[in-house]
Amino acid sequence: MAGDGSILQSLVGRLRFGLIDLVRRTNSVALLRDLERLQFEPPERLRQRQQALLREYTALVKGASPLYAGYAGFDAFPIIDKAYAGAHREQLFNRAYKGKLVRKKTGGSTGEPFVYYTGVKAQSYLWAAILLSWRVAGYRLGEPVAFVAGTALFGTGYKQKIYYALMNVHMFSAFDMSAAKLDAYAAGIAKAGCRLLYGYASAIHQLALHINEHALAPPFRLRGVVCTAEVLTPAMRATIEQAFKVPCFSQYGCNDAGVSAYECERRDGFHLISQRAYTEVQDDGRLVSTDLSNDAFFLPRYDTGDLVTMAEAPCPCGRGFPLIKTVVGRANDLVQDRNGNAVHSEFFTHLFREDSRINGFQVLYDARQLVVVVQCADPAFAHEPYAQRIGAALVFDTVRFSVNRPFVASTNGKHRFVMRVDSVAEALGEGRDGVVAASKLLVC
Ligand SMILES: [Zn+2]
Repeated sequence: MAGDGSILQSLVGRLRFGLIDLVRRTNSVALLRDLERLQFEPPERLRQRQQALLREYTALVKGASPLYAGYAGFDAFPIIDKAYAGAHREQLFNRAYKGKLVRKKTGGSTGEPFVYYTGVKAQSYLWAAILLSWRVAGYRLGEPVAFVAGTALFGTGYKQKIYYALMNVHMFSAFDMSAAKLDAYAAGIAKAGCRLLYGYASAIHQLALHINEHALAPPFRLRGVVCTAEVLTPAMRATIEQAFKVPCFSQYGCNDAGVSAYECERRDGFHLISQRAYTEVQDDGRLVSTDLSNDAFFLPRYDTGDLVTMAEAPCPCGRGFPLIKTVVGRANDLVQDRNGNAVHSEFFTHLFREDSRINGFQVLYDARQLVVVVQCADPAFAHEPYAQRIGAALVFDTVRFSVNRPFVASTNGKHRFVMRVDSVAEALGEGRDGVVAASKLLVC
């Protein structure tokens, strides 16, 4: 089982993670072993297991929260969102829960953070699911891992530092991606002998572009790359695989909703861990999910705001967990003009997909103008046909392109393909021009 890693490495790995579980009072390693076995059970058997968990959860919620006591059953529970949860937070706690309570923060729909809580079981699932996605990429417990991410993934504080030291994680900040830093990151990943690279898709992609452009060839020992938190386009995946010479996988999660999903070797959809979450896809594609493992704080039938499509047939890999065919993106990844016309960020993904010169893009818009920031191998990139296509779908005073300037980071450091901002000129650091300033005055 230990392969080219020694039995000693495998023992040390188990010991390291055993210690983390002990300190954190979680049981991620045992759960990982369960999930590794469960993932290959037939779909019907997994559905039965999930139904049993759902019945248990429903009884718990009805008994512990006055908000839900009056409902006949789970199907009668309303679909809730962040605003509802924020307004009823006190009634969503399980007062009978005696374990460790973990405070969590995630991006809110209008930019303000949404605060929720989880318990030991949900935390265990969170980590077991991450480890499961790494296992598909060839990772073995205890091996060195490189993280390229921001604080949302790292966490901060001394406890996190201890966990990451135990996990053998080497951290590289996604906030500082200057050329000098990217050189150092590539060298650092090789020097530490990291076997897995994990982090934000956009940050890993940026590092890969840098490696390819400068023909860097540090002696990497990677087995695989796992991207998370953001959409990984086929072009991004190809660039990453070219740079690191190993397969690149994607992972999809929505922790407040208990959603953890991972790509298998086929890399044609995300296997959803149905023992953690009960999911329902609405007619419009919205993913509504219930974290069955969160027995500390209840968010039943919680609208993730993500749009997904499910695969009809089971995955040929033999895993029985349901397969999310595509994650179309956040419902708020929409570009809306002042006349109410709206297109999804997918419109732009499709627009640029066939153009091999374009390595990445970001759409920024305000009430009057739309700017597409493109990373393009051809600095003389002729954008007129694209501007016409966009102009035919959306009404803006100006539609223009900005070639090879840095993307604008969102407040949590994640790359967003589409961002509505108060002023595009200001977001791009161009200063407000006369037109924008004047229109602002008129509005005021
Ligand atoms: Zn599969």
